[in-house]
Amino acid sequence: MKNTIFLFCLLNLLSFASFSQEKPTNVILMIGDGMGLPQITTSIYFKDSPSNFEQFTDIGFIKTSSTSHKVTDSAAGATAFATGQKSYNRAISVSPDSVRLETILEKLEAKNYKTGLISLTTITHATPACFYAHVTDRDMHEEIAEQLTNSGVDFFAGAGLDYFTKRKDGKDFYKTLEEKGYSMDSVKLVTNPYPDKKYGHLLAATEMPAKTKGRGDYLPDATELALNYFKSSNEPFFLMVEGSYIDWAGHANDAEMLIQEELDFDKTIGVALNFLKENPNTLLVITADHETGGVAVGKGKSADELSIYFTTDQHTAELIPVFSMGRGSELFRGIYENIEIYHKLATILKL
Ligand code: MG
Ligand code: ZN
Repeated sequence: MKNTIFLFCLLNLLSFASFSQEKPTNVILMIGDGMGLPQITTSIYFKDSPSNFEQFTDIGFIKTSSTSHKVTDSAAGATAFATGQKSYNRAISVSPDSVRLETILEKLEAKNYKTGLISLTTITHATPACFYAHVTDRDMHEEIAEQLTNSGVDFFAGAGLDYFTKRKDGKDFYKTLEEKGYSMDSVKLVTNPYPDKKYGHLLAATEMPAKTKGRGDYLPDATELALNYFKSSNEPFFLMVEGSYIDWAGHANDAEMLIQEELDFDKTIGVALNFLKENPNTLLVITADHETGGVAVGKGKSADELSIYFTTDQHTAELIPVFSMGRGSELFRGIYENIEIYHKLATILKL
């Protein structure tokens, strides 16, 4: 009996040793702001080639309500993903009683992960802000910009230059970022980034143009650049990529904008999937904070045509799909609360 127990312990030790030598898990979290199932449906019907969503087999759904509203906003939605705790609409990673909630990005930085954030809006906007900032209202852009300078984020790309350079307090946080060692750019994405440097892109005064207004391939290009940069550093990483304007198209009830933004996001998923194929120690999770527009994809003018219909210019409470692939992706099946995205990531990352 003693021998059997000894052997059992030895085997456990051996398997633990081999497990702990495994490469740490990289995380790519893609958030299609305002992207419900109808928005995803447009990338099935309006794309010339098969949608990248069709490559996923681990699929789940999240419930997205906040502590203050059945219908969440993007701030409470991203707070749930970033911290694993629900809060009120407009909260940026603070609790309902305004207590700072540590984020997954901050916890991973402490474990020597490289971190990155990519958005189309100002980098101080609710979705990206929730990963590095803590304020009681999403409109506190100047405070959020200051907190970015102290965040240690290794790579960011987005807009919002004005919140760093044309501030009420007269400070220049673009310069501060440079002084802190960031290679900053306000015109274009850098080429050939060095793995041991930090990079900040603030590519428009307030926000990037919509895809229909000539944005080009900024989102897939920035994602590819960030992934190459992380890969060359040889450290594990956490990257959040936001398809920000799927939401804005819903608010504007703009069908063409919706389709173009969704297709751009789909293309960006393709970049992440290519990375996954070559780097199996990576987990890709794609979801949204909420649906926007109460969209239906229905019968168009002719029998063979589809039209996009909007039932509101606001967010809705619809269940939101979660697509996952890579290491640990099977954990994301089922129907659960939005905060579980964080807790499932925390399990996989041993946080
Ligand atoms: Mg957003
Ligand atoms: Zn919105």
